[in-house]
Amino acid sequence: MDPKSQRVKLNDGHFTPVLGFGTYAPEEVPKSEALEATKFAIEVGFRHVDSAHLYQNEEQVGQAIRSKIADGTVRREDIFYTSKLWCNSLQPELVRPALEKSLQNLQLDYVDLYIIHSPVSLKPGNKFVPKDESGKLIFDSVDLCQTWEALEKCKDAGLTKSIGVSNFNHKQLEKILNKPGLKYKPVCNQVECHPYLNQSKLLEFCKSHDIVLVAYAALGAQLLSEWVNSNNPVLLEDTVLCAIAKKHKQTPALVALRYQIQRGVVVLAKSFNKKRIKENMQVFDFELTPEDMKAIDGLNRNIRYYDFQQGIGHPEYPFSEEY
Ligand code: NAP
Repeated sequence: MDPKSQRVKLNDGHFTPVLGFGTYAPEEVPKSEALEATKFAIEVGFRHVDSAHLYQNEEQVGQAIRSKIADGTVRREDIFYTSKLWCNSLQPELVRPALEKSLQNLQLDYVDLYIIHSPVSLKPGNKFVPKDESGKLIFDSVDLCQTWEALEKCKDAGLTKSIGVSNFNHKQLEKILNKPGLKYKPVCNQVECHPYLNQSKLLEFCKSHDIVLVAYAALGAQLLSEWVNSNNPVLLEDTVLCAIAKKHKQTPALVALRYQIQRGVVVLAKSFNKKRIKENMQVFDFELTPEDMKAIDGLNRNIRYYDFQQGIGHPEYPFSEEY
């Protein structure tokens, strides 16, 4: 890691800031909040912004980025923007149109990173979550290597600087890495990662292949989201995290973010609250000791907030594998 610029080099030569701003919010949250929060995040120093077609806020997030370019706060090249290919567009011929749709919503010429949102392919069409009469998800069947080749073409066409994946297990990553004629390796695998699911094996695997692990739900996820299994304990109330935070005169949230950065993980933090957005930038102002890191490692207990249970039964459901 380059501590001064707080960014890491990806395996394709581009850089990504180690702290990213998450923009997903449950459907009932007005989209205007994503606009205001993203503008404020850029004002206080965030340079990495994470969104997706699924979040239905790319119009507002793009507007926020463009307004901060227009007022001179940043240049386009200072911002690292990630978008994601949703599950209903994994058929190779649907990939480029999906990215073009995101760019149109964003009103940007390119994204910095385009990733496959999940390996679980769903029926193509207008519905994000296509279901049959009994309420079951309608799956689709796609060769992920072909989806990947379509992403490679998007990079060659200049629509995205880098390409990667999300919610892939190590076997699915291996499938891409071993693909005959592979042109570009995934630069990252964005997965749920926090002290209760620290992904140490997947992290080791990714590091050994020069793939950056990007942590989502690093603060314990949004428990009100329809995608989240809210029967799980609240991460930021954990007594060990709270004690370490107290010792450093920091908050449990900052400890959870700092933990990831010190183990070489790029970390996303979502907040639509100005005080907390600002607070999260303080992750660079303190350091955890090796003993703190070990104690946090000890909290791992295989708790997955975004378990995507509806996807169970799909041949590519990623979370049945150990890692
Ligand atoms: P998260 O980053 O784990 O945050 C959870 C909650 O913590 C937020 O709702 C936020 O509420 C609160 N929070 C933020 N800063 C705090 C602080 N300093 N102190 C106390 N509470 C704080 O949430 P997430 O949205 O689940 O994950 C982060 C991002 O990862 C998403 O926004 C999205 O961009 C991405 N993501 C990707 C996937 C994928 O499949 N690839 C899945 C899920 C998420 P307030 O807004 O009220 O502050």
